[in-house]
Amino acid sequence: SDISNKIAAGEVVERPFNVVKELLENSIDAGADKIEIEINDGGLSLIKVSDNGRGILPNDLPNTIERYATSKIKRFEDIYSINSYGFRGEALAAISSVSDFKIHSKRDGYDGFVLIKNFGENFVIKPSPIPNGTIVEVANLFQKIPVRKKFLKNSNSEYREILKFIKCFSSINFNVTLKLIKDGEVVLDLLKDNSMIDRVKKIFNESSLFELKNTYGSLSIEGVLSTPNNQKFRKDYLIISVNKRIVKDFGIMQSIINAYHRLMPENRYPFAFINLNITGDDLDVNVHPTKMAVKFFNSNDIFSFVYDSIKAELNSLTL
Ligand code: ADP
Ligand code: MG
Repeated sequence: SDISNKIAAGEVVERPFNVVKELLENSIDAGADKIEIEINDGGLSLIKVSDNGRGILPNDLPNTIERYATSKIKRFEDIYSINSYGFRGEALAAISSVSDFKIHSKRDGYDGFVLIKNFGENFVIKPSPIPNGTIVEVANLFQKIPVRKKFLKNSNSEYREILKFIKCFSSINFNVTLKLIKDGEVVLDLLKDNSMIDRVKKIFNESSLFELKNTYGSLSIEGVLSTPNNQKFRKDYLIISVNKRIVKDFGIMQSIINAYHRLMPENRYPFAFINLNITGDDLDVNVHPTKMAVKFFNSNDIFSFVYDSIKAELNSLTL
């Protein structure tokens, strides 16, 4: 029901940046390699994401805002896998219940349609002549819900959080063409890159970086890290993704820091972007609705793998 969607909305989306994360992950799930993001007033008045992904069949459009209506779980076991970013079908149900929401979509060979759901109203569907792909517009997020609205920060701080997320997301998804428009001005305009290090160098003004790649059984790691002379005062740039989904994992963060032990003072940290590919059996992402947290079944193996991979690379650097 709409009420349970609104309750869930508080868990799935807390701030505009969570909306941006869900929409961008949906675009990647849809196979998009070109994404445009528009943010007005820190996402408080508008968040718009356009992609060139496979689009949605006209008959499936209403399902996108039904709770638990995900097109991504084929088998029950898939609940335990984040090979596909989204899997619970909660995000759009939640977002569309707390905003003025539109989703336009066109699948190749079909006509394009838009589903419009203004806050508190039933949805309507109309024709929409767009190119193949999907456009999601989230306007006035939480603006008509006083209890939620009061937790929002001002548009500048909401924007800073969104920008930081987009920079990290686009570093991990380096092979996607991505444009960010803030209040009508182009802020990021990135063509596909061939490697994570190329993208990271474009986005962050960092030198003294090296690439990391390693595989062990069903685990693989790829990343961009700073050499020991490039030290940070804060842990802000320890960015971890699992199967290309950005997560918060203090165990992996600590494994990265430990690998630099003796190469950096206690109160300094490396700059690191790490993507771990882990197959479904080894992880459980059903920990928190925002999916920022993951639980590993074999966390110690994963921590050792991260530590050993970085340590070996650091050793070879200093040889
Ligand atoms: P989930 O991603 O967990 O399946 P969401 O609520 O994020 O749930 O999305 C619901 C459904 O809407 C998806 O399963 C997908 O079928 C469809 N969808 C959402 N965004 C897009 C998009 N950008 N391109 C194609 N399909 C989309
Ligand atoms: Mg999703």
